[in-house]
Amino acid sequence: MKKSCIAFLLMVCTAQVFSQEIKFNFTKPELEAHLMYIASDELAGRRTASAGERLAAEYIALHLENYGVKPAPGEADFFQKIPFTNFLPPKTAKLTIGNTNFKIGDNLLIINEKNIDTKTEIVFAGSGWVDEALGIDDYKGLDVKGKIVLTIIGSPDGNSPNAVFQSMAQKQKFAADRGAVALLEAYRMALPWQIAQSFFGKERMEIATPDSSGTLLYGWVREENPGIMTMVNGINPIAHLQVERGDSKSLDALNIVGVIEGTDELLKNEFVLLSAHYDHVGVGKQGGGAYTAQDSIFNGARDNGIGTVALMAAAKDLAANPPKRSVLVLACTAEEMGLLGSQWYADHPMIPLDKMVFNLNTDGAGYNSTKHFNLIGMGMTNTDAELKKAGQQVGLTMLGDPAPEQNLYERSDNISFARKGIPAVDMAPGITEMNEEIYKNYHQVTDNPGTIDYDYLLKFCQAYTLAARLIADKTGKIEWIGEAKIFEK
Ligand SMILES: [Zn+2]
Repeated sequence: MKKSCIAFLLMVCTAQVFSQEIKFNFTKPELEAHLMYIASDELAGRRTASAGERLAAEYIALHLENYGVKPAPGEADFFQKIPFTNFLPPKTAKLTIGNTNFKIGDNLLIINEKNIDTKTEIVFAGSGWVDEALGIDDYKGLDVKGKIVLTIIGSPDGNSPNAVFQSMAQKQKFAADRGAVALLEAYRMALPWQIAQSFFGKERMEIATPDSSGTLLYGWVREENPGIMTMVNGINPIAHLQVERGDSKSLDALNIVGVIEGTDELLKNEFVLLSAHYDHVGVGKQGGGAYTAQDSIFNGARDNGIGTVALMAAAKDLAANPPKRSVLVLACTAEEMGLLGSQWYADHPMIPLDKMVFNLNTDGAGYNSTKHFNLIGMGMTNTDAELKKAGQQVGLTMLGDPAPEQNLYERSDNISFARKGIPAVDMAPGITEMNEEIYKNYHQVTDNPGTIDYDYLLKFCQAYTLAARLIADKTGKIEWIGEAKIFEK
């Protein structure tokens, strides 16, 4: 008798567990409508600081307001303005040594532009590095005043992209301090020249700085046969350098910032930061990929329309029924410009960063599995169990990083917060491997809202929302684990 009672009770309890379906405060048609608008042609690829991006910002902010999300304390609205300067590539750029011409678009790349038209000596200065402690002075015995300096790309740390990017500003300063008018570097990187050219050779946006006039003209020269070094080293020939800089203009872009107050008297002082970038790359040449007259808009339905919709869905659900911890909702601009929007927020937070205990970012390259999601940063924080459970509850299996060699963790906005010491991960739509299925849409004009599986969008948004809720309700400290403790502050 007793035994069957327990069995009966167990049966009732189990039945209850299974019948207790999780309710979300959003529907599939609603999410579909969001994505149809955010990735519509009307928004023209949501390029940072463009009119289309502004429309997306207003759409997101209006919905946050309707959901009952509040602006950050002391703010009148949801917008954080970021000043940008937009630079068009130089109108002309040419270097002539003897009978040899180096030209922009071919074998000359101007990275820091100045208007210049000068005939002067070009002097080779080795790696162009100075470090008294190491006894290095590549400028020793050289007079470069009023001259063009030619150096080999890189630093004593090598010529990996990282070493090159880290040393660029310092090398310009070494040359400028010695009175040079320009610094050109002979290009010797494993990275193909075409990639460097498509990265630096197009219209670009930078965060506006009060004064960048102190620096000198800086560029790269492709090494060919005969190499520019052979022409210059020990000869110091006269070179003619002509650069007419492209037009630049000031533009503002917007981060969208909202707050949902937690319900627990103590824990509400801690925030879970939910983030997703809502910008994309724009139209035509801006996009950096192939396009046609019929279709030139990079709609960014996957990148990062899906993440934007997931962020909105979570905001709605959490605002209607807040968790114990507070939530900061951040839709970032300028991710495609080099994570500049999240970096700006991390440097200009509207609520002190030491109150942010976790960042759950959502961004991805697309998906080739509707049964999965990926956790970029799996094994880095003590929240894997919550994320895994969130997926399971809605029928999605959690995978780790599908392509560790591609440094995906460092290629989305989560890294801006990880660098400030905040445990951070990125939740991405399901990729079992980086294959043709992904690349055919990634940063392509074909990344349209008409090609999205909306049943999957619903599940993904549910998993993101539930993960946010479970983490915001988690007992105990949220922290870095294992090797990721290097981020700990
Ligand atoms: Zn993205």
